[in-house]
Amino acid sequence: MKVKVALRILLERSVKKMGKGMNPIVKAAALEMIERAYNEGIYVQISAGYRSLEEQASLYGQGRVYIYNGKNYSNLAKPNVTNAKPGQSYHNFGLAIDFFIVSDDGKKAIWTVNSKWQRVAAIGKELGFIWGGDWSSFKDYPHLEMTGGLSYKQLQAGKKPYITSPKTSKGDGHIMSIQKTINSRYKTSIAVDGVYGPKTRSALIKGLQVELNKQFNKKLVADGKWGPKTKTAVITIKKGASCNITWILQAALYMKGFNPGTLDGEFGEKTEAALYKYQKASRISADKLAGKVTWNELFA
Ligand SMILES: [Zn+2]
Repeated sequence: MKVKVALRILLERSVKKMGKGMNPIVKAAALEMIERAYNEGIYVQISAGYRSLEEQASLYGQGRVYIYNGKNYSNLAKPNVTNAKPGQSYHNFGLAIDFFIVSDDGKKAIWTVNSKWQRVAAIGKELGFIWGGDWSSFKDYPHLEMTGGLSYKQLQAGKKPYITSPKTSKGDGHIMSIQKTINSRYKTSIAVDGVYGPKTRSALIKGLQVELNKQFNKKLVADGKWGPKTKTAVITIKKGASCNITWILQAALYMKGFNPGTLDGEFGEKTEAALYKYQKASRISADKLAGKVTWNELFA
């Protein structure tokens, strides 16, 4: 009988690889991701976390001639692995991790982007990460990051990210009140536990479907699933909007760690600012409009 790798081993190796200098919330979310995947029979490890500017310089130097701070980092013997110079990667701020799958016995690394890999990415996203596999320009499948809505330029300038994760915001009062509102408004019976999990996500989608039917005469089945019909039926809302759909947008943004201010269904300055930050962080067009692309990013 084959012995399966222990969760403790995966966590220990990952903590080591992430190194010191990780944002504590990002680190906690990474470990939570490993545990949740483990409970589903998927064994995953973190290969990288915090990376100093010098470490980034040696990585950037692979495959090219590169001098940084007077030191030669050129390494033409190795292939090009990154286009991020020192200070241009979220790894440099302890906000990003890279993962890979390990064999059941924990002895072999598996780098194939298969259904297990996709599932780990999905768990990561539930926990508030943005996945490099979703990027359109350059896909970085092992990469997960939390930006707190800041660009690396803002981080370089010393701005501090506001990071929340469903893991660390367990019992989050705002999420609990969102869950209560969903239950009473949309006749769902999700747990009021302050955690943004798949059931709360599905209930929010149901709410959106109900509102689209009621206010825009769409004939959607309110099943809480993000299917092609719902995807095309969504409407675009922007600053000035005042309706339950704005409330759903506010709730969804809050769940992703972007604070829209009071959840009052009024699309004002704060909601617009949160939307803009979210769009930036997700690398979708930052047009301040909650349209098809944004809704899909929030719920897909
Ligand atoms: Zn990475």
